[in-house]
Amino acid sequence: MGYDIALLRGDGIGPEIVDGAVAVLERIGEKFGHSFRFTPYLIGGCAIDETGEPLPKETVEGCLASDSVLLGAVGGPKWDGLPGDKRPEKALLGIRSALGLFTNLRPASLYPALRAASPLKDEIVGRGFDIMIVRELTGGIYFGDRGYRQGKYGEEAFDTESYSLTEIERIGRVAFDTAMKRSKRLCSVDKANVLETSRLWRKTMHALAEEYPEVEYRDMFVDNAAMQLVRDPSQFDVIVTSNMFGDILSDEASQITGSIGMLASASLGASTRGMYEPIHGSAPDIAGQNKANPTATILSAAMMLRYSFGLAKEADAVEAAVNRVLDQGWRTADLLGAEGGEALSCTEMTKKIIEAI
Ligand code: NAD
Repeated sequence: MGYDIALLRGDGIGPEIVDGAVAVLERIGEKFGHSFRFTPYLIGGCAIDETGEPLPKETVEGCLASDSVLLGAVGGPKWDGLPGDKRPEKALLGIRSALGLFTNLRPASLYPALRAASPLKDEIVGRGFDIMIVRELTGGIYFGDRGYRQGKYGEEAFDTESYSLTEIERIGRVAFDTAMKRSKRLCSVDKANVLETSRLWRKTMHALAEEYPEVEYRDMFVDNAAMQLVRDPSQFDVIVTSNMFGDILSDEASQITGSIGMLASASLGASTRGMYEPIHGSAPDIAGQNKANPTATILSAAMMLRYSFGLAKEADAVEAAVNRVLDQGWRTADLLGAEGGEALSCTEMTKKIIEAI
């Protein structure tokens, strides 16, 4: 079968890591008899340089016309001085919203071969963990009314959090369905002891829980969740939470795996078209040096195969290849840790993964 993939390479290490994922997809196509067609579009700083806009219209149209979107990363010091709405990062909110991507799936699992890289104590990581964070992506405080006004103490800034029942219910359904496909455990994270939006969140999740009697459901306050993630991450399977809480907790969860260069993400909406990207940024400090770890982007491509194209066998093949390469001891520089050793370049790591497929 043929699939059209929009490539948003972006800035910094974006082009290197996306090229790694493209090479892996081509190998999967060859092995399993699919054809992947890739069309590049500009986004972020490189788009500002060429068109004056971080998210040109052609990029949005190209993504909307594609079967799925693969993104590297955007941003870098060159564009840091620009005003907020002209910065490369602004394009991320724009493209998520244009594609209606209201769900962000962020897996954070511990690779046994990389256990030493986790900052947690051995007795905690020894239990292992495999968490899927389901974050609401197009609502809440990041999209609410904001501005400046005169308040009790003079000038003040404000941001507003609002959530509709519809928004909570649709992300809740994704989370319960995700839990059904995994170990059927779901933890909903909120701040219902303080926030009105969280109280509606909790009430809506409880109503959904009645429709999914097989799912072992529980609520947790966000402050406790932040603590439990480092105390005993093995207690979690699927976590569902709002945009801002998800932003923070998913970074915490990624940190305990010890390897930012390994973590993938998927942003999904009502259609099968999704946007897939590594969780890390454009790493300007190593850009253009062929040192970046391409694995997070390659695993993001595996998520695309699974969630957008329904190609589970093919996704399994990519994930198994990554595991095999790590088990064989191959590492990019970011994974070497204190014990040191030989570091593979971005292209060499890609080649190892392709060989393992
Ligand atoms: P970063 O994730 O780019 O880098 C943090 C550190 O991790 C750096 O030392 C970097 O070298 C390292 N690193 C990241 N990815 C790596 C990889 N694949 N292989 C090896 N090492 C890797 O975060 P930052 O430095 O805070 O941000 C740099 C730029 O990226 C900023 O402009 C920021 O706004 C942008 N950013 C973009 C996204 C995105 O596009 N989704 C996300 C986060 C940050």
